[in-house]
Amino acid sequence: MNGNEYSIFWTETIRQLREDGNISEQEHDMWFKKMYFIKGESNTLTLSVPSNFFRDQIKQRYLLLLQSRVSNITGSHIIINFEVRKNTKTSDNPEKITTENLNQSHERKPHHQLRQDYDFNNFVIGGNNFFAASAAQAIGLNPGGAYNPFLIYGGVGLGKTHLMQSIGNSIHYSLKDKKVEYITAETFINEFIHSIKSETQSKFKNRYRKVDVLLIDDIHDLQNKKETQEELFHTFNALYDAKKQLVFTCDRPPSELRNFADRLKSRFERGLNVDIQPPNFETRHAILRKKLETFSTNIPDEILELIAKNVTTNIRDLEASLTKMIAYAELVGKKITTEIAQQQLKGTFTSAIPSNITIDRVQRTISEYFNITFADLKGKKRTKRVTFPRQIAMYIIREITDYSTTEIGLEFGGRDHTTVMHACQRIEDLMKGNPTLEPIVNEIKRTIKEDS
Ligand code: ADP
Ligand code: MG
Repeated sequence: MNGNEYSIFWTETIRQLREDGNISEQEHDMWFKKMYFIKGESNTLTLSVPSNFFRDQIKQRYLLLLQSRVSNITGSHIIINFEVRKNTKTSDNPEKITTENLNQSHERKPHHQLRQDYDFNNFVIGGNNFFAASAAQAIGLNPGGAYNPFLIYGGVGLGKTHLMQSIGNSIHYSLKDKKVEYITAETFINEFIHSIKSETQSKFKNRYRKVDVLLIDDIHDLQNKKETQEELFHTFNALYDAKKQLVFTCDRPPSELRNFADRLKSRFERGLNVDIQPPNFETRHAILRKKLETFSTNIPDEILELIAKNVTTNIRDLEASLTKMIAYAELVGKKITTEIAQQQLKGTFTSAIPSNITIDRVQRTISEYFNITFADLKGKKRTKRVTFPRQIAMYIIREITDYSTTEIGLEFGGRDHTTVMHACQRIEDLMKGNPTLEPIVNEIKRTIKEDS
C-alpha cells in the first residue's frame, strides 16, 4: 500500500462507520471533522488531532472501532497513530484546517474545575449505580428540574465524584449559558474561613449564589463545622428558591451525619437521595473492559476476569490493578498469561487485606462506628446494642487478620472460640439476607485499612 491508498482507506472507513450509524452526525462534527490524514506506511496510519485532550478522547471512544474497521477494509492489521498539531496547516487540507479553527473558537473550553474524563460516556452503568446514573443523566439534560437537590451517597471509590462531575460536564458543554461550580466541601470550608479572616464574605456569598449549578463533593466533611453549615444553609436556600440545581455527594445517607444542623440535613433530604453500592462481578468486568479501551495495550479477557474476581473493594482499587498489569505488559513486552498475572497481582489482591492490623485497631474502629464504648464492645453485656457490633467486629477480624478464633475470643473478654465462630456465621447469614449489610461491613473494613 502506498500513502495515497492509506488515505483512501481512511476516508472509506469514516464513510462506512457513518453509514452504519456507528458514528452519528453530531459525533462526526465534533470529532472526525477535526482529524486529518497525515501519512500511511508499514500498516500504520497517522492522523492529526488538535490537542492532547482530543487525542485521549478519540482513543477512549473510538480507537478500537476505527482500528478494526480499517483493518477490515485493508485486509491487514492496521495501527492508528495520532499526532497533536496545534493550529498547523497540513499541505493537503488548508481550507479544512481553517474551518476547524473556526469551529473550535465557538466551542466551550473545558471547565476548569472538572476532570475531562469524568463524563457519562466513561461511566459504566450496572445494578449498583443504575438509579444514581439515570437520575444524573436526567439532571444533565434538565438542571433545576425534578431532582433537586440531588444527593449521591456511598463508600469510597465507588464513583460518586465521577458521576457528579459528569453532570457538570454534560451541562457545561450542552447548556452553554449555564454556570457550573464544582467544589469539595473541604475547599468550601477553607474558602469560607478565609473570607471571614480577610473580610471578603460578601464576595464569597456572591460567588456561590450566582451559579446555575452547584456541585459540592464529600459533604460529610462538613460535620462539626457549624459556621460553614450555616453558610451553606443560606446558600442552599438562595439557590433552591431560584430553582438552581444543587448536587451533593456524601459517604453516608444524610440521616447518619453527625454534628450536623438538622435543618440542613432536612434540606438535603428534600430532593432525591440515591446510593451507589459496590459493583458486582459483571460490572467490575465491564468497567475493566471500558478502562482498557483507553490504552493501546491488549490484556486478555481472562485476566480482566481474574482481576474482577479478586478485587472487590472498590473501583479505585480495580483500576490500580489494571494499570499495574498494563505497565507490566508494556515493560516486559510479552503476552500476559494467567500465571504471570496471578504472580504480579498477588500484592494487589492481598494489599486489600493488610496483615499488620491488630484486634485492638478493629475494636476501636467498630466501637467508634457504632458509637458504643470500647469496654462495652469487649465486655459481658448482652444487649442488642452491643452484641451486633461485637459480632461484626469478630467477623471482620476473622476476615482481615490471621488471628485464630481462640485468640479472637480471648480479646473479647475471654470468650470461647465457638462463640466467635457462631458470630461469624451469623454475620455471614445476615449478609446473605440483607443486601445493605455488606456495604457497611466493607466501609468499616476500608476505614480500618486507612487507619492502619
Ligand atoms: P468516589 O468519589 O465515590 O470516592 P470516584 O468517583 O473518585 O469515587 O471513583 C473512583 C475511580 O473509579 C475513578 O477513577 C472513576 O473514574 C472510577 N469509576 C467509578 N465508578 C465507575 C463506573 N461506573 N464506570 C467507570 N469508572 C468508574
Ligand atoms: Mg469522591
